[in-house]
Amino acid sequence: MIDANMNGWEAGVRKVVPYTPGEQPKNKNIIKLNTNENPYGPSNEALKALEGMDMDEARRYPDPTASELVKALADYYSVDENQVFVGVGSDDVLGMCFMTFFNQTNERGERLPILFPDITYSFYPVWADMLGIPYETKALKDDFTIDAADYNGPNGGIVIPNPNAPTAIYMAKAFVEDIVKNNPSSIVIIDEAYIDFAPQGSSVIDLIDKYDNLIVVRTYSKSRSMAGLRIGYAISNPKIIKFINDVKYSYNSYTMNAPSIKLGAAVVKDEEYFRETISKIVKTREEFAEKIKGLGFTVLPSSANFVFASPPEGYTAEELFEECKKRGIYVRYFKQPRINNFLRITIGKEQDMRTVYEFFKDFLTR
Ligand code: PMP
Repeated sequence: MIDANMNGWEAGVRKVVPYTPGEQPKNKNIIKLNTNENPYGPSNEALKALEGMDMDEARRYPDPTASELVKALADYYSVDENQVFVGVGSDDVLGMCFMTFFNQTNERGERLPILFPDITYSFYPVWADMLGIPYETKALKDDFTIDAADYNGPNGGIVIPNPNAPTAIYMAKAFVEDIVKNNPSSIVIIDEAYIDFAPQGSSVIDLIDKYDNLIVVRTYSKSRSMAGLRIGYAISNPKIIKFINDVKYSYNSYTMNAPSIKLGAAVVKDEEYFRETISKIVKTREEFAEKIKGLGFTVLPSSANFVFASPPEGYTAEELFEECKKRGIYVRYFKQPRINNFLRITIGKEQDMRTVYEFFKDFLTR
């Protein structure tokens, strides 16, 4: 049927419901705890690398292979360079993986749904819808944990964040391995955006040589404190990395810009600063969680740089979200079934979290 309100060409438009990023307000005087940024800033190695930049690099196209960054990451994780793919934040890497791998059909030629949790990173259904990938969500248990057994049926691929977002709960490595092992015919993407804030040894990067269907995706936006430079990467086997690169080069060969390549390669060399900032955030997280529990909040166990917390009875997360905003405290609220009484609060510096706690205390004892 012809819609009288539509121009002819509009029928051919790819119509999508886009992902909504967290607000990035211009005002610097707010306490910004809404996008899981790292409050400490990148290592000084980044500054040094910037000083070492030749402006001729702005004139020339960047290295399409981003080899300096790829090499730095390969060295850091003791893998080969052909086991690393880099992109414009992990969103770009994940999107490329969706395009590359989530195209499976069964013996009757029907597309198989990909699987991910019902409460998870809200970009997954957006990519799936945009790319026409069928998907099925698996409900988290009542305690908001993932049941690994849910991922045993036929599927066209699996994507799971570990720790999960926005719950902040992490799944023990043995359960992640079960999912990878039980799905040898599917690609399993483990999105480890927040894994550096989980106990050391939780990552499944060391399983990439054991299973040929595993992709681990990481980001510089959280633990490396470089969200503004947009760097993400995938670690997997050379065959998988080649498939992703083929799609990348079929879409946009120059994804990585010259400063990001340089700075990204430099910061992984400063392990001491990296570990120090992570332990500060973890310490602040634990203290903040305990303090707000003392006010009656329910706080899910966090292994990330944020907490997912529900206010005590008589208060709603939505009103608290609005009140916080009025006081210049930005947190994240998802008006979504099961989690519409929770706030996702990024862990900032100790002083910021003290201010948030004091505000909650005042508000709840008015
Ligand atoms: N995965 C998860 C689970 C996230 O929460 C985020 C941050 N929004 C990303 C991936 C993407 O992060 P980035 O593109 O900044 O690397």
